[in-house]
Amino acid sequence: MAVSDVLILFLAQLGVISLALTICSIARNQMAGDLSLSRKAANGLLFGSTAVLLMHMPGELIQEFRFDLRIVPLAVVGLISGPIGAGVAAIVASAGRVWIGGSGAFLGLIGISFAFGVACLGSFLVKRGFKSSDALLLALVNAGVAYSFLFLVPTEVREQLTRANVHLVLLLMNFVGTAIASFFVYIDRNRREHARLNDLHRQIVSALPDALSVKDLEGRFLIANKATANLMGASNPKEMVGKSDFDYYRAEEASLFWAQEQGFIEDPVPQVLDQQFERNGQVVHLRTIKAPYAGRDGKLLGIVSHTSDVTKQKSLQAELVATQVLLQTAMSEMADGLAMFDRDGRLVMWNRRYLEFFPYVDEQSCYGCTLGELLTAGVLRGLISVPENVAPMTWVDEEVARSQAAAESELRLGDGRWIAKITRPVGDGGWVTLYNDVSERKAAVHQLERLASKDGLTELSNRRAFDRELELAFSLAKQSSGVLSLFMIDIDHFKAYNDTYGHPAGDDVLRKVATVLQSGSREHVDVVARYGGEEFAVILPGVSADDSHDVATRLSAAVRKLEIPHIGSPKGRVTISIGVASADENVVDSQILLKRCDEALYAAKAAGRDKVRAYGEDKVPISVTVPRRSRR
Ligand code: GH3
Ligand code: MG
Ligand code: MG
Repeated sequence: MAVSDVLILFLAQLGVISLALTICSIARNQMAGDLSLSRKAANGLLFGSTAVLLMHMPGELIQEFRFDLRIVPLAVVGLISGPIGAGVAAIVASAGRVWIGGSGAFLGLIGISFAFGVACLGSFLVKRGFKSSDALLLALVNAGVAYSFLFLVPTEVREQLTRANVHLVLLLMNFVGTAIASFFVYIDRNRREHARLNDLHRQIVSALPDALSVKDLEGRFLIANKATANLMGASNPKEMVGKSDFDYYRAEEASLFWAQEQGFIEDPVPQVLDQQFERNGQVVHLRTIKAPYAGRDGKLLGIVSHTSDVTKQKSLQAELVATQVLLQTAMSEMADGLAMFDRDGRLVMWNRRYLEFFPYVDEQSCYGCTLGELLTAGVLRGLISVPENVAPMTWVDEEVARSQAAAESELRLGDGRWIAKITRPVGDGGWVTLYNDVSERKAAVHQLERLASKDGLTELSNRRAFDRELELAFSLAKQSSGVLSLFMIDIDHFKAYNDTYGHPAGDDVLRKVATVLQSGSREHVDVVARYGGEEFAVILPGVSADDSHDVATRLSAAVRKLEIPHIGSPKGRVTISIGVASADENVVDSQILLKRCDEALYAAKAAGRDKVRAYGEDKVPISVTVPRRSRR
């Protein structure tokens, strides 16, 4: 066989193999991902049939020795369809070889199984990540298989082959054939991978809700996605290629965008732009990121734009700001102090009025302070006053414990102001407290209470207050020592005084007597009251019967000592009579004490007035039938 015939044979066989590879590649283009089992089997069938076709092509190198590239498709199929494809191909090729028959059939089958081994190696290389050097490796191994085949043929045939240098041709052809086929697969794989990535990128870009486009340096679109077309009102992205902003926006808007792009071209570093344009009378707000589109040499070719429509966010943001301003104004203008504490009990928000109540709360350093820390600071600076009967830190702890639940309480500031606190828990575990200055209200209530319990003329406790105080003193006495005394005091011949000196002068006497009684009693302990008309009463807690007599005598003397002239009285001056009664085991309630006291007063009057008489002191039986009212 001439060299040219060998070359033609080689090229023809290579052509057949290439055809199979091409068919396989085209068929695969339609499919994504890994090959299915049936697809692998189909490829095995294709490459197995190719091997059979190669066997049938004329290739007698020497007498009785046919040569073909059958092991090339049988090995290469491993790269495409793995061991399964290789197995099917080997079976098909084996069947083909057996069909041809002849003495070399057995050797042919051995050669096919060798090729199957090479295919498995190829499949392993693919799994590991097929490189261009792997194609060469596979070609070498396959050539080696072809070469080793020489040692299986009868010696005389081998010698004949060697003599004619056919073995080298065999080696070379299989090497070159496998290398070309493997490179084809390698390149095809890379191309497919690129195509897949490309497709993926396209899908990402077209699925992106944001507008993505590339423009050339003249501002013409090179490519744009669907979102860009939607944004700019183009019917489809393809239509936009070659057009510019001037085709879609109003001239002044497009000019502005153009100017911005020119600025970017002068200094092509990625930048974010806030843009806007008008569409159907509505302003559309855009946020655009511009990035350079450069060639491999780094030369700027265009501008990549990524644009999002932020109109909704903008209006939400504006609404939020407006609401915040409104809230802040409301908070700072409200008459009540307001403070908000988070779930960890830390101050997170407060208003202007709160700072007026607690001026030591510092804007800078008090954010995040606990209520305990704030109260402690206030107490230590004397800006919050703690009730006298509680230790300051105990009060702070109690106040903190109280503050976390819904509650209403009062707090006294160092300057005497009273603050009412209303606390309400909020959803996240924190709470809000409202602080309201109730000093005036409290003072008014206090004043009312005072007025309700005081006698207008003498400023002493009135009858109502006396009744209450007597009840209280009596029950306190019962709970403790049981010692309590009571005076009933009546001005002698007072009617005559009025008749002589006039009612206003009588009032004056009442005031003077009241002052004497008040100053002769213990402050904050004894209760001096105007019982009615010109009658007074004094409650003396803890004063025994013996001591009370002395006190009464002293009071009586003090009034006498005023030396208020009274010509209507045999004494010539204003005097008082005092009845004294003290609690003992027979006095089971305050009314009995009062009654005894009244009787004692009656006794004092009966004894000639200007006298002090204790209950039971006189042996003279006292008629309790004389109604008390009759003395008025
Ligand atoms: P006795 O020594 O028995 O107590 O004689 P008396 O005149 O004080 O007797 P009586 O208790 O009956 O008189 C009370 C008088 O006190 C009658 C009334 O004119 C006078 N009086 C009562 N309330 C007032 C008052 O608010 N102002 C003045 N000026 N007089 C009063
Ligand atoms: Mg009187
Ligand atoms: Mg009287």
